[in-house]
Amino acid sequence: MIATLIDGKGFAARLRADLAAHVAQLKEQTGEAPGLAVVLVGEDAASQVYVRSKERQTVEAGMESFSHRLPADVSEDVLLGLVRELNADTRVHGILVQFPLPGGLSQQKVIEAIDVDKDVDGFHVENVGRVAAGLPGLVPCTPLGCLMLLRDHLGDLTGQEAVVVGRSHTVGKPVAQLLINQSCTVTVAHSRTRDLPDVVRRGDIVVAAVGRPEMVKAEWLKPGCTVIDVGINRIDAGEGKTRLVGDVDAAAWDVAGAMTPVPGGVGPMTIACLLANTVTAFCRQKGLTPPAGLGL
Ligand code: NDP
Repeated sequence: MIATLIDGKGFAARLRADLAAHVAQLKEQTGEAPGLAVVLVGEDAASQVYVRSKERQTVEAGMESFSHRLPADVSEDVLLGLVRELNADTRVHGILVQFPLPGGLSQQKVIEAIDVDKDVDGFHVENVGRVAAGLPGLVPCTPLGCLMLLRDHLGDLTGQEAVVVGRSHTVGKPVAQLLINQSCTVTVAHSRTRDLPDVVRRGDIVVAAVGRPEMVKAEWLKPGCTVIDVGINRIDAGEGKTRLVGDVDAAAWDVAGAMTPVPGGVGPMTIACLLANTVTAFCRQKGLTPPAGLGL
């Protein structure tokens, strides 16, 4: 069996094109464009790449992009002061502070300081609670992207056995919550799980969000299952080069029914969903119904 490729890159491009059309309509309707403020603290190379992509894609979708760069030794007071200014700025409808923050700065305090309605990362405890309670909230971008790909590929997920490997607040737990909301039967595995291969083998759907290169083996999978590989791991490719691999072994393509590639799977969905959340946040702040298909 050669698994069908779940094309996150293509899906994300279509989503961004849809968003650009919605943004053009919203501008006509309200005279304003949704605005996303991105705050980058320090010089982390990977974060700089992510932030530049976010800013570029925001502008390409016709939205306003507000960039704030702070030095790595900025005080927590200054950072929190900037967040409060952005909360009050009516041109800003979504706020993203790029994580990880340099040591000494509390991510939790930053998350709590962001206005819940502008929390386009969906990490504020009130948004976590809204999603858990099945109420409209802002859903974390990577989990939202995983769900969009699953629903696009499988349609109704009711009754599917789903195994999520990883229980981080940013990926594993919200993915599990979203799958419960979709009426899947969900098992969450983590580093203390016994007999992980047996647990993974239950899954009609397997979501791997571990951060360990190719850890989930082909022989752990139920033949024909759908695999969403969230992992992004850079490994040595010899001759001084590196390459990106996921959390799932490449041999899984011979066992799964469908699978996301790395790169080109979940990764591109994350930024597209950030833009979708910004449009959703804009609409809610304006008392408008968000366009269908941008959330869950
Ligand atoms: P975390 O390190 O926060 O969480 C990893 C999870 O994996 C933990 O719950 C941990 O368990 C579990 N785990 C670690 N080792 C094992 C093991 N041997 N067996 C079973 N479970 C294990 O990572 P994130 O959730 O932030 O990210 C996961 C991966 O997804 C990373 O590769 C990251 O780069 C990628 N990622 C990709 C994104 C994208 O846009 N595509 C966005 C965000 C992340 P425990 O809780 O017990 O420690």
